[in-house]
Order: sequence, then C-alpha cells, then structure tokens
Amino acid sequence: MKIKVLGSSSGWAFPRLVCDCRLCSSTNERDKRLRSSIFINDSILIDAGPDIYHQLLQFKICNIKSILLTHSHPDHIFGLHDLNPKKCKIMKNVPIYGSEHTWKVLDRIFPNSRYRKETFKDYKSFELHGLKITPVPVVHSENIHTVGFVINDQNIILGYFPDFLSFKKEEDMKYFEVDCLFLDGSTLKKPFYTGSNKWGHINIMEGIILAKKCGAKKTIFTHLGHRTPPYDDLSKLLRKKGEIYAAFDGMEIEL
Ligand SMILES: [Zn+2]
Ligand SMILES: [Zn+2]
Ligand SMILES: [Zn+2]
Repeated sequence: MKIKVLGSSSGWAFPRLVCDCRLCSSTNERDKRLRSSIFINDSILIDAGPDIYHQLLQFKICNIKSILLTHSHPDHIFGLHDLNPKKCKIMKNVPIYGSEHTWKVLDRIFPNSRYRKETFKDYKSFELHGLKITPVPVVHSENIHTVGFVINDQNIILGYFPDFLSFKKEEDMKYFEVDCLFLDGSTLKKPFYTGSNKWGHINIMEGIILAKKCGAKKTIFTHLGHRTPPYDDLSKLLRKKGEIYAAFDGMEIEL
C-alpha cells in the first residue's frame, strides 16, 4: 500500500498569520502544514479540506478514483467546492463516500453540486479499488458524526483516524491493531475538550499509550495543532517512544 500525506495540520493551517511563536516562525519546511488529507495507492483521497485544490496542484494529482470523508467539519470538506464536477474535470464520475450525516451537511452547504454521492454505514466494510474499507465511528464531536477508516490491502492494514477523542466501545480498540496508524495529534499534552468534556481530540501523549496498548506497529501523528512542538522537537520526542513519527506534508509511506 502506498500512502502520500497531502496535508497534516489540524483545523487551521501553519504558519498562523501574525503569530511569532516558535512553531509559526520555524524555517523548517516540515512546519508548514496544510489541512489533513492522504492519498492512497494513487486512487483514493481521504478528506478534502479547504487546501485540497492547491494540494492536488502541488503534488500533481489528477487521477482520483474515489473520495472518502471522515466527517463534515470544515477542515475536512470545504475543499469540495473546488472539486465540484460542474467545474472540475478530474471529478467526472468520481464517487464521494460519506456517512448519511455527512451527506446531510454536504447537501446543505453545496445544494446545487453534482457530486456522485455514495453512503456507507458504521462498521460495514466495502470494497474499493481492490481494498477493503471499514468505517469505524469515533467520539469526536457532539453534533458531527465522525469515522476513522481501517483499510486492508490483503495482509497490510492501515488505520486513519485524524479526528479522534476515543472509541465508542471498548471492543473497538481492535481497530488500532494495524501495521500503520495515523492518529489525531491536535495537542501534545493538554486535554482538547469542548462542551461537557465529552468531545474533542485525544492528546499525543495519551495517543501513544492507546496505540501501543492496541497493538499498532507504527503510529504517525497527523492533524497536528498549535499546541504541539515544531517538527524536529516533536519527532525526537516521538522516536524515543518507539515506532512513532510526526507526519509532514509530502510524507510518503510504503507498507
Ligand atoms: Zn479536523
Ligand atoms: Zn503560532
Ligand atoms: Zn473534526
């Protein structure tokens, strides 16, 4: 399985405008991040945030065969405006897979689009371009239904969970037993909760413990936020913990 990281930031890209913190003033190219998205086997795009058009241009991608959406927060769907088949030739006949809730939101935001709409159900696996895709619902937002994807290519398993606070059920921990797990890295240590403490993002330190407990062979933190250290510091810290890495835009992985 071939994975290309097109973007690795949390809800807002880096550097932030008029911010002189260490992260935003870093001169390392790996600290310049656009919204999280990956491209698998030169065919499947996961998520289409506000930067997607420029990410596709930058990486010269014009062969998308399908799009999978984790959820309908703006940082994962707002780029669909630019991918409307009415204006975007590469989207002709490209199906977009989302949950029923995600489509309800998309239909409201993009009422006159001509997307090829496909829906999936939680835990119900389906085949796509030779891969088995399983949408796993997760706790993340009070009002926005959210999934991560477990993707099997015969014996190789990838997990992609860019927005994740916890599993809905303890038995779902088996979905992290993968060869490579992309996990929510919105914050390093502090809790990232909203509302009644039941929604938000796991922090990286807790994520490391959970990923190891579940048996992920390699973990890559993506969806990295403002409350994380610059790439070099974060990488050093993660590498001390085992096969754990920080994603960056343009990262390529072969499993
Ligand atoms: Zn997000
Ligand atoms: Zn900053
Ligand atoms: Zn989200």
